Amino acid sequence: MHAVIVGAGIIGLATAWRLVERGWSVTIVDPSPGEGASHAAAGMLAPASEVVWGQTPLYPLMMRSAERYPAFAERLAAASGHDLHYSRTETLVCAGDAADRASLIELADLQRSLGLAVDVITGSAARQLEPALAPGVAAAVRLSGDHSIDPRRVVAALLSLLGGSLVRHRVEALISDGTRTRGVALADGQNLVADQVVVCAGADAGQIEGMPELPLRRVWGDVLRLSAPRPLRPLVTRTIRGLVRGRPVYLVPRPDGSLVLGASVREDGVSGISAGGVHQLLRDIERVVPGVEECEITDITARARPGSPDDVPMIGRVDDGCVVSTGYFRHGILLTPLGSELTADLVTGAPPDDELLRTVDPNRFSLLRQGVPR
Ligand SMILES: Cc1cc2nc3c(=O)[nH]c(=O)nc-3n(C[C@H](O)[C@H](O)[C@H](O)COP(=O)(O)OP(=O)(O)OC[C@H]3O[C@@H](n4cnc5c(N)ncnc54)[C@H](O)[C@@H]3O)c2cc1C
Repeated sequence: MHAVIVGAGIIGLATAWRLVERGWSVTIVDPSPGEGASHAAAGMLAPASEVVWGQTPLYPLMMRSAERYPAFAERLAAASGHDLHYSRTETLVCAGDAADRASLIELADLQRSLGLAVDVITGSAARQLEPALAPGVAAAVRLSGDHSIDPRRVVAALLSLLGGSLVRHRVEALISDGTRTRGVALADGQNLVADQVVVCAGADAGQIEGMPELPLRRVWGDVLRLSAPRPLRPLVTRTIRGLVRGRPVYLVPRPDGSLVLGASVREDGVSGISAGGVHQLLRDIERVVPGVEECEITDITARARPGSPDDVPMIGRVDDGCVVSTGYFRHGILLTPLGSELTADLVTGAPPDDELLRTVDPNRFSLLRQGVPR
């Protein structure tokens, strides 16, 4: 059996890898593999610190995918021989001032009510753990289950395993025989025939001719890569998330001493790097880890997160020959093990987890619009 995967971001590549493991042959089509949202992502695997009010269906998905991460990362590292910079060190969420402390403690109560391991500590206890924290940090929450990985390394590892199956072209359209999808038409005029087409084109999934309308929105984020001067290394030893006047900011350390500072959240349609977004990140992190001012900026990237109306992915069948897997919004790196497994299950016809499929059904919005009970 042969699948054409449209999109070589982390979701398309991980899905392709799972299909190959199940004995399928794959062709992956992408004009710029690994250069979409997956190139920008900080790689926080954060089921607890990503908990926010009003996103109930998302938590179980994040938890289930987080449980799968150790096995996923170990298998990928072993198969590819790549170091993925996978870190299972805890995350510390810090309140920039007393007002932020109140919000942090309210959020900690919500996280605890969901059964997550949450430990609230004072600002001075936090500074003992991380001496680079600012004197103004008023309190912090320790989240032992929130880890990190380097998504660029994950993508490189997957490409090293699958590179021979890659075609560097844009898919223009799905090819249908009138009843089901039979393949894809490329921008250079070639057609590729497939038993199954899997659309993992991130924020662009709805732009392919023949795809149903998908309620995707582009949520842009600016993110900086930094290098700390040698005498300051390691600037921090765990992921530091800050709440500064209600705005989130984070700093993710990598084992090589580099840091990722992110990320703005904008729906302004500006596809390049936003001066305002970068300025705000630097201003906010200064309230939490002032030593960032001493760092060298090595890279600034802006990309669009593929958002759905309820921030839950859209994974499901388009027709008998086509599956879509997109809408991973700000959790696509965390959700990769679960999302790629579910997508591969749909493609191969493995027995479905019906409840999970209902949660991520791409048609759930139209059903809700029509008032059809789910
Ligand atoms: C600033 C930022 C920070 C983030 N931080 C985190 C984080 O810390 N943790 C986390 O879990 N998630 C994070 N995310 C979210 C995560 O990056 C995304 O959810 C995830 O990368 C989505 O993966 P994807 O493969 O669906 O999409 P993408 O990585 O965007 O890949 C889609 C691919 O499809 C290709 N494509 C598009 N159209 C076509 C076509 N017509 N033909 C062929 N190919 C096509 C594109 O070239 C692209 O390579 C972050 C995102 C951003 C922007």
